[in-house]
Amino acid sequence: MKNPDHEVLIVGAGFSGIGSAIMLDKAGFSDYQVIEAGSGPGGTWYWNTYPGIAVDIPSFSYQFSFEQSTNWSRTYAPGRELRAYAEHCVDKYGLRPKIRFNTAVRSAVFDEDNEFWRLELDSDEVLTGRFLINGSGILTTPNLPDIDGVDSFAGATIHTARWDHSQDLRGKRVAVIGTGASAVQLIPEIAPIVAQLNVFQRTPIWCFPKADRPLSARQQLAMRIPGVKSIQRLVSQAYVELTFPLVTHYFTVNPTVKHMAEAGKAYLRRQVRDPEVRDKLTPRYAVGCKRPAFHNTYLSTFNRDNVELVTAPIDKITGSSVVVAGGLSHDVDVLILATGFKVLDPDELPTYPISGVGGQRLAEFWNTSRLQAYQGVSVPGFPNFFTIFGPYGFVGSSYFALIEAQAHHIVRCLKHARRRHATRVEVTREANDRYFASMLRKRRRQIFWQDSCKQSNSYYFDKHGDVPLRAASTPEVYWHSRRYPLTAYRFGTASGRKVLH
Ligand code: NAP
Repeated sequence: MKNPDHEVLIVGAGFSGIGSAIMLDKAGFSDYQVIEAGSGPGGTWYWNTYPGIAVDIPSFSYQFSFEQSTNWSRTYAPGRELRAYAEHCVDKYGLRPKIRFNTAVRSAVFDEDNEFWRLELDSDEVLTGRFLINGSGILTTPNLPDIDGVDSFAGATIHTARWDHSQDLRGKRVAVIGTGASAVQLIPEIAPIVAQLNVFQRTPIWCFPKADRPLSARQQLAMRIPGVKSIQRLVSQAYVELTFPLVTHYFTVNPTVKHMAEAGKAYLRRQVRDPEVRDKLTPRYAVGCKRPAFHNTYLSTFNRDNVELVTAPIDKITGSSVVVAGGLSHDVDVLILATGFKVLDPDELPTYPISGVGGQRLAEFWNTSRLQAYQGVSVPGFPNFFTIFGPYGFVGSSYFALIEAQAHHIVRCLKHARRRHATRVEVTREANDRYFASMLRKRRRQIFWQDSCKQSNSYYFDKHGDVPLRAASTPEVYWHSRRYPLTAYRFGTASGRKVLH
């Protein structure tokens, strides 16, 4: 049996990869290598740099518990500060020498003879690691819309997730396709500078005001008082918990979110003058079927004379025109695709193909057996493989608390493996089946199963009609990451594959 190049390989230097690396180091696992496609860390915040980008979760909880910043300029940090925070974490925790930037993973194959993972890189090299942690994210691969002619648009085309900063939009006729969270942030930023902005909306989004305020120097100073940051984090975490996981996963127990639709409509009435435009911007599905948006000037942007909301379905794109059903043609200079990501698509999750025992492809397993993973972390048939935010891993609260919990789950498992000199760690089918069944049982109390959700076009639903979000609160996830039975895994040694618990 050969030795691998590293004990652990981590794919992705976004916050999932950064958090996993720091927690591995703290647990005494220093032989790891991070592989990152970008030229810098930050993941989402590295790739997404469109005008107006900011986080929608208060910054006090959108950060690691062990690395709380006092430098946020606003209650909801802009994208560039999150990218700077990623750089800061990488440097402070000494990760930079262990990250291979500008390197994409082409495929990962489990080598059964040697009980390690073989990663083929886009540099044609092969890197091996006993364990593989995937941190390639869930909102990673840009989704290009299947609109006839979109590839041959005569002007400039920009996807929000790959913003082209060389394009000057001033005085141009611009089209934005899509009205998700990215478009909601982008549209108010560019509307004042472009000559004409046509927004092509397929499904309206619920938009609520955002308590986004600058943080003064005095407030930043106050955060340096011992304990203040932790209290702020706790309050912020509680707010996020109350506004997402608790209303979403315990909807039948706590249906308070029903009142949110009235609040959303009242906000629309205050913000949008034209009743016809307001009507078009009003979602016909219940709040919670789909991720809502939070912005203070998105809706009012539709009061501007140079902004038109187009709700007729797009028929095709020809030359420099977007043609809608009925034949009306909108001439534009720049086409902006705010059309999101390939979400919950087994062929894109992770962003590279993975083959486990007997050459079975992870995508094939998920395509035929539905998306599933034990506590959102591990999959039977894929030994020594762990993922952050696998199916039924994300509850919808701040990513950071969940990254820490999932990384804790993994590190606990690896520590046990090390104690047992195990070279092969695999979640049992029974543990996975029990977890999957429990997630399906908990559906009955979730928000997603209301009739009107069928009209929402929500990416929460995968092609099987499942919503692979973890039906739990963040404290439950935290608790399970520390208390899950280690008997959920089989620990085998190289000599004879003895099963140890
Ligand atoms: P998204 O929410 O998936 O929105 C994509 C938009 O494009 C939708 O309005 C969709 O319409 C439309 N679309 C897609 N294909 C189309 C087609 N062929 N024709 C017409 N319209 C089409 O993507 P996103 O706005 O990039 O946001 C994705 C996620 O990223 C968010 O939900 C959020 O989790 C995250 N995000 C977070 C922040 C933040 O924290 N502030 C900011 C941006 C993004 P339908 O709705 O009809 O499908």
